[in-house]
Amino acid sequence: MERTLTIIKPDGVEKNVIGEIIRRYEEKGLRVVALKRIKQTKDEAMGFYIVHKDRPFYDSLTDFMSEGPIVVIVLEGEGAIAKVREIMGATNPEEAAPGTIRADFAANIERNTVHGSDSPESAEYEINYYFSQLEICG
Ligand code: UDP
Ligand code: MG
Repeated sequence: MERTLTIIKPDGVEKNVIGEIIRRYEEKGLRVVALKRIKQTKDEAMGFYIVHKDRPFYDSLTDFMSEGPIVVIVLEGEGAIAKVREIMGATNPEEAAPGTIRADFAANIERNTVHGSDSPESAEYEINYYFSQLEICG
């Protein structure tokens, strides 16, 4: 059993597809074990994406991730990290496979609707970034 962090980004919340996105995860056997809707500050978004601090898109990305509410979710299931990445599709929606969340909803490489942890190490950092132990129950 594995846990991963997924985020419905501000563009996804604005498009009113929170339920549709969670449905796609549940349909593939993943379970929600923690969930909340929050609006983070620029600093909080910068801390979350600290691994990208030297990338050219960091400033714009963290503006975007703090422009409106997001939904942060811990999903649990067998191979949850890889499964979520597959359901999300490629970072650039133009390269995302048909039927993936990003192919269906993302506007461009930045406003790409969802986040998913990319490794067990990042999942641990990301889950602990938004949730306390008390908020997660399997
Ligand atoms: N991003 C961007 N421009 C790029 C690459 C990434 O704006 O050229 C944004 C995009 O929102 C992406 C996030 O930065 O989801 C994190 O990038 P990463 O390479 O980790 O992609 P992901 O793991 O989200 O597919
Ligand atoms: Mg990533």
